Amino acid sequence: MYLDHNATSPMSPRVKDVLYSAMSETWANPSSPHSLGQAACALVEHSRRVIGDLLEVPAKWVYFTSGATEGNAWVLANATLPVIASAVEHPSVLAWASETIPVNGDGVIDLDVLEARLQGGPALVSVMAANNEIGILQPIEEINAICCRQEALFHCDATQLFGRYPARINADFITVSAHKLGGPRGVGAMVAKSPPKALLQGGKQERGARAGTLNTPAIVGFGEALNEQRCWAGDERKKLEDFCVQQGGRVIGAGTARLPNTFSVLFDIPGDLLVTALDLNGVQASTGSACASGATATSHVLEACGIEGVPVRFSFGPDSKAEPAIQALGAALDKMGESYSCV
Ligand code: PMP
Repeated sequence: MYLDHNATSPMSPRVKDVLYSAMSETWANPSSPHSLGQAACALVEHSRRVIGDLLEVPAKWVYFTSGATEGNAWVLANATLPVIASAVEHPSVLAWASETIPVNGDGVIDLDVLEARLQGGPALVSVMAANNEIGILQPIEEINAICCRQEALFHCDATQLFGRYPARINADFITVSAHKLGGPRGVGAMVAKSPPKALLQGGKQERGARAGTLNTPAIVGFGEALNEQRCWAGDERKKLEDFCVQQGGRVIGAGTARLPNTFSVLFDIPGDLLVTALDLNGVQASTGSACASGATATSHVLEACGIEGVPVRFSFGPDSKAEPAIQALGAALDKMGESYSCV
């Protein structure tokens, strides 16, 4: 039972079919003027429209990237304003931040501190829609309103929200990634209200803003994954979460709005040991971000929340079931619990 969809989510048979057909049949360069090229181009533009429609923005605001890491770097690396990020952003955002805004014990950004900081001068604010480690939702509508009031730019990394749940995101820049929602790895999009500074120079792809031949199959797979009506509702997640609480686990951000598919829980037993025990019993979870895999120290997200320890993160997909994890976790806690007492 794979419960690590925030790291990556598998492609459905339909997405694989569409991707394969784009590789084998619509393989021409989408920038070529002949009919084969234009057939590929039509597929790329269809995916662009699907993304734009979901975000309720014009398709011409959508630029394809290799994923959210690239999108975040595109928005932030060349920013002419200081980049202010919440303390719980993904490392691909924090790498470019010159200042961070604190969060409360549930991981939610302090809006008063943000507004006070923006009164001190112009900035580009970067706050994610949903946290990849603990699943909490940030108040992005309020953040956008503050940024408008203070004449700051707003970038929202919507990687964990987009395509899973309805989201109308008002921001100057939005970044997303296909592989969190059942699309291929290595493709994403950056959405910009006004033409961005070019990321890569060369050919005139992406209206001259990102040179390089477009990855048609991946882009087509991205669009198809978004077209699929998949239900990411949280009943199964809740079942497992309730079980963890009964077992003495402490759910991080329990008191605030969260992604329905995600929860992160601390036991007195270190999360890395539990994750290994779960894996041996056929259940794949993680201790937090896959980008920090192997780390056994408290993550920057938990640290920012003022919490110590290594949790287990469960992130459900549309077909995930709680029962195998309840069985495996129950057995692991019984076995290992003798040497630890639950927090
Ligand atoms: N931002 C967030 C919130 C993420 O969860 C991730 C993936 N862990 C990324 C950015 C990076 O995405 P990608 O793998 O597409 O580069």
